[in-house]
Amino acid sequence: MRVALATDPGTPGWPNEDFAAVAPGAAVLLDGCTTTPHGAGTGCVHGVAWYARTLGTVFLGAITADPPVPLADALAGAIGEVRSYHEATCDLASPSTPAATVTAVRAGQAGFEMLALSDSSIVADYGEDRDPVVLTDPHRAASTDPNAARQASTTVVPPDGLRGIALLSDGATRITEVYRLIGWPDLVAVIREQGPAGLIRRVRAAEDSDPDGARWPRFKTRDDATAIYWPHPADGSR
Ligand SMILES: [Zn+2]
Repeated sequence: MRVALATDPGTPGWPNEDFAAVAPGAAVLLDGCTTTPHGAGTGCVHGVAWYARTLGTVFLGAITADPPVPLADALAGAIGEVRSYHEATCDLASPSTPAATVTAVRAGQAGFEMLALSDSSIVADYGEDRDPVVLTDPHRAASTDPNAARQASTTVVPPDGLRGIALLSDGATRITEVYRLIGWPDLVAVIREQGPAGLIRRVRAAEDSDPDGARWPRFKTRDDATAIYWPHPADGSR
C-alpha cells in the first residue's frame, strides 16, 4: 500500500484544522470547522485542530479493529469517546463547540467502503473512460452527538477497474465546487497524474489570481486544503 498525502494551511498564523491519517487498508480525512475569531467562544479549551486530530485518530483506530465494525458505527463510537475526553473540562453545549467533517475509506470483503459526513468529499477514480464516484454529504458535521454518524453517507465501490481513491477537504475541492474551473473527472485526473500536492497547487494558483475575491466572492481567501490519493487500492490491500 502506497499513499500520497498533501496538506496546506489556508491562513498564516492560524492552525491547520484539517487532519489526515492512513493505516494499512484504511484512510481518514477530517476538516475541523473554523470558528472566528480563532479561539473565541467555543467553550472548549482544546480547540478545533485538537478536535479534528483526536476524532481522526480514534476513528482510524476503530475502523482498523478486528473484527471490523461498520464505518458509521465506528464513527459514532469515536464521537462518543472524544466527547468523554473533554466533557468534564469544556462546555459542550456551546453552539460553537468544535466540529469536523469526516471522510473515510476501508478495504472490505465486498469492495472499498466509503463514508462521508458533511461537506468533505471522497472519490473513487475509475480512469479516463468512466465517471468517478463522488461521495459527499449534506448533514451537519461531527461534534458531540454520536447519532450524527447515523446520517453519514456511505457506499461500497467495486475494485474492478478502480484506479485510485481520493479523500479531499473542501479547501481542495474549491477548484471544482466553488471556482468551477474543472469538473470532477478533471480534478481526479490532476490528482492521479500530479498527486495531492499538484491539485493543491492548482487551487492556490486560482486563489492567487483572485486575491480580493472579485471573481469568486468568498469568506476565506484560502481555506486549509488537504488531499490523500491511494493509487491502485485493490493491489495487495486485502
Ligand atoms: Zn475541549
